[in-house]
Amino acid sequence: MSRQRASLLAIAIVTLALTPAPALADPTPQAGKTAKTAKRAKTVDCEQVKCIALTFDDGPGKYAGTLLDTLKKYDAKATFFLEGQYVKSRPSYVKRMAKEGHELGNHSYTHPNFTTIEPAAIRSEIKKTQDAVKKAAGVEPKILRPPYGLTDLQVTEIAAEAGMPIILWTAGSRDWDTKNVDAIKKQTLAVAQPDGIILMHDWVKQTVDAMPSIVKTLQGRGYHLVKVSDIAKKENLQPGDVFPLPEGWQN
Ligand SMILES: [Zn+2]
Repeated sequence: MSRQRASLLAIAIVTLALTPAPALADPTPQAGKTAKTAKRAKTVDCEQVKCIALTFDDGPGKYAGTLLDTLKKYDAKATFFLEGQYVKSRPSYVKRMAKEGHELGNHSYTHPNFTTIEPAAIRSEIKKTQDAVKKAAGVEPKILRPPYGLTDLQVTEIAAEAGMPIILWTAGSRDWDTKNVDAIKKQTLAVAQPDGIILMHDWVKQTVDAMPSIVKTLQGRGYHLVKVSDIAKKENLQPGDVFPLPEGWQN
């Protein structure tokens, strides 16, 4: 399947007539109720401190274990937009992600372009992934990132039905393209900004190899590496909302 990042469909939409839904008070997956987990789940207020969210799509990839080791070593959190078929084949990584306080998102089951498939197929892709993550980690994702970041009015309506906001990104690491440790590090650090949401992939070995250096450098610049929902908290996102908004969009 093509991993090429397609450009966003610039479809201007007006406020969606969503059925009233409760605000997402806490979109963080409940990782478990042990004292150990609770201690780790410290609160970060991104309105007070400098935050950035590293997000890893299409996984869990085969290097996820090494990535989790790095995140743990530096006490950094990340968000994983998981592909259901790999959740099914690598459930232990998903369980570990939840247990170690990372955020889990839904990235479809087989990575189709949601803007070109039937509504029933979109619903099935989302549901099968929710079920796979629940089975693997005991929690369900509360956020959706459609494959390639491609969305339209229909996709947002289905996300609203499923109770999830759509999370895109502010910048990409271009890791799928360069597959080079130095290039990934350089690009990621160049696009890093407060409240940035960075697109990366844990199936790219060079990304995982670059991570210790990226994390150390960002922390050295004063960044807290947080979950996407920590950054989105002030937006009070509703199911079906898109964040960050592509140009010309309105929630
Ligand atoms: Zn993807």
